[in-house]
Amino acid sequence: SLSRYRIAPLFLYHYKGFEYMKVLVPIKRVVDYNVKVRAKSDETGPDLANVKMAINPFCEIAVEEAVRLKESETAQEVIAVSIGSNACQEQLRTALALGADRAILVETELEVEPLGVAKLLKAVVEKEQPDLIILGKQAIDDDSNQTGQMLASLLSYAQGTFASEIKVKGDKIDVIREVDGGLQTVSLNLPAVVTTDLRLNEPRYASLPNIMKAKKKPMDTLTPEELNVDASPRVETLKVSPPPERAAGIIVESVDELVEKLKNEAKVIT
Ligand code: AMP
Repeated sequence: SLSRYRIAPLFLYHYKGFEYMKVLVPIKRVVDYNVKVRAKSDETGPDLANVKMAINPFCEIAVEEAVRLKESETAQEVIAVSIGSNACQEQLRTALALGADRAILVETELEVEPLGVAKLLKAVVEKEQPDLIILGKQAIDDDSNQTGQMLASLLSYAQGTFASEIKVKGDKIDVIREVDGGLQTVSLNLPAVVTTDLRLNEPRYASLPNIMKAKKKPMDTLTPEELNVDASPRVETLKVSPPPERAAGIIVESVDELVEKLKNEAKVIT
């Protein structure tokens, strides 16, 4: 019975997990998902002039999940971070209105690609020492789906990608992942990297009082130079062009005519 007393404090410590859990949420400023993006006429990139910008939807899901961890008292602090131009402040303020405690802008005018973003985030992680980093599974502008994986690798942290449910259990986290043919549950040691899938949660809207409160929350600015990171691009975009126009369809008069065309013109049936 004496040994039972001895192990009790250890067990309690283990069960409680973190005294103070910090969650870092990287968010990307992208073209709003409702906007139909057009290529510039010189095909050098998408035309972003006067286009509505927003938080990448998967990053919104990441903010929501972090805020829910705080509301359930699993986490104590949520930090939003964005890498890009000064305009990213707008999306960071939205993250603050959704419930993040403070924000960090890593300001650069460079077009930073996933490896550069991952290197900058690694430097922020080393500075802030979060226990959990929740990213979107992909940014809807470049559809890379690379940053979370690269960050986990650079940090040598465990990764749980495409999460549809997470459960923090002491110093571990269970991540239920959406994979082909079903759901896979993995258990990761914290600190860890998680990327969000669509079904993880439904993000809330920012309320007016929270938008007002967000104006007073702290926002720090750092530069890649201060973080000692070379984020210059390794990939050159050669051209961005619109998809080919679809040819107009036709209306057939009868089922027989349809079958005849499918057989002889489209050659999809025999
Ligand atoms: P990607 O690998 O580009 O598809 O992006 C995946 C995720 O990485 C996004 O959902 C964000 O959480 C994060 N991320 C990508 N680019 C940035 C950026 N410029 N600033 C902050 N987070 C980013």
